[in-house]
Amino acid sequence: MRLYNTLTRQVEEFVPRDPKNVKMYTCGPTVYHYAHIGNLRTYIFEDILERTLNYIGYSVNRVMNITDVGHLSSDSDSGEDKMLKGAKREHKSVLEIAEFYTEAFLKDMDDLHIKRPATICKATEHIKDYLKIIDQLMEKGYAYQSGGNVYFDISKLEDYYILTNHKIDDMVVGVREGVEEDTYKRNQADFALWFTKSKFEDQELKWDSKYGVGYPGWHIECSGIGIAQLGEYLDIHCGGVDNIFPHHTNEIAQSEAYLGHKWCNYWCHGEHLNDATGKMSKSKGEFLTLSLLKEKGYHPLAYRLFCLSSHYRKQLVFSYENLDSAVSAYEKLIRKVKLLQQETMGDIQTDLYSLFQTRFQEALEQDLNTANALTVLYDVLKEEQMNTATKLALVENFETVLALGLLEKKETVMEEDMKSYIQTRIEERNVAKQNKDYTLADQIRQELLEKGIVLKDTKEGTIYEIETR
Ligand code: AMP
Ligand code: ZN
Repeated sequence: MRLYNTLTRQVEEFVPRDPKNVKMYTCGPTVYHYAHIGNLRTYIFEDILERTLNYIGYSVNRVMNITDVGHLSSDSDSGEDKMLKGAKREHKSVLEIAEFYTEAFLKDMDDLHIKRPATICKATEHIKDYLKIIDQLMEKGYAYQSGGNVYFDISKLEDYYILTNHKIDDMVVGVREGVEEDTYKRNQADFALWFTKSKFEDQELKWDSKYGVGYPGWHIECSGIGIAQLGEYLDIHCGGVDNIFPHHTNEIAQSEAYLGHKWCNYWCHGEHLNDATGKMSKSKGEFLTLSLLKEKGYHPLAYRLFCLSSHYRKQLVFSYENLDSAVSAYEKLIRKVKLLQQETMGDIQTDLYSLFQTRFQEALEQDLNTANALTVLYDVLKEEQMNTATKLALVENFETVLALGLLEKKETVMEEDMKSYIQTRIEERNVAKQNKDYTLADQIRQELLEKGIVLKDTKEGTIYEIETR
């Protein structure tokens, strides 16, 4: 398996410490609002990564956090706590907000066939783990108290910016225009490990500590949960590209300062989903959710197909037009597979099976090239030398990674019995032709064509073929 590693800035062979226990950590949502479909693109990428690792024989132990405290409006420790902001917006408590949006997130995951990580942890349930790390960092001289908060001192590290390729000046979020400078910090890129009431009086959730009653910073949560759940060594850590700095940079800094050795070998990041105005983000106000797409009649798995059609390291532009193309490709796939299920014939052609299975696997092993993996699926469906039993067996195999629900019964238009629908339309067209109503006959042909059904008039009568593209 070859993967792009942000740490080394190259595609390299993935070698886990233990193939039977690949340790994977994926940053989870801050549950102050619905996930937008951009966030969901990142979770789909991580799901494909986990499923691919399983597909090629690794056992994966995956952990995801649910951030229900400590994530401030700016990732550089300024602004209000996002959870508090959400609670005020909805006149509810932080815990109520957290519970509601966690449930909504899990529902989105289910709708998109994103496998639940083996462990999902709430940030508020690991406070003692963060304090254990903070205490050690204080003892070792990596952390200091100032203005009531505990900060990590980045000047104590030789290579704080190891994960990024940028010049230090570009990366210091704290001194960016419009961002309030925190005068308590020794270096502007220092980051908070523990906030106390001295800075945020109205914080709802607080815990006692030797540094005062307060709450953890967002970055320490992922290190704390990761180390508590997966131990001192991590194989893969994932997130969206905006997590590279400061979040993952800070995670590396504090974890490695605490552990005294390298923490994680592979850092994998998914590119953003953009809309016409740039990166999709919640701070822009209106944002697209999966529920909204569902309300508009889009099947969530058509959105999954939309995401899989492009490479995870390329920016993807969302538009309804692009999504519509994915929907029509999705509906064609569903119909084609449904026909296979109705007409499964022959014994598995083992040579063809392994040829296409290998091509599919190779596509995924090349840094998760899902677009090429989908091409293999389309090729299988249109391969004339292959019988339906072999095709169906390959679809079943591919579905363990793609998880597009191609083998399930759908409750939409796709639920119709396609064969009888097509047959009825063909008969109606025959009647139209007998009545010399060629306009209607053409209309029916066109209607079927738009659904990917190609009619062919032969001496024996009209037959049809299903296109997959
Ligand atoms: P958040 O809930 O803001 O912490 O974000 C959850 C995940 O979504 C993180 O891994 C982010 O990197 C990722 N993310 C944020 N915005 C986008 C976007 N526009 N496209 C793809 N992923 C995103
Ligand atoms: Zn994280």
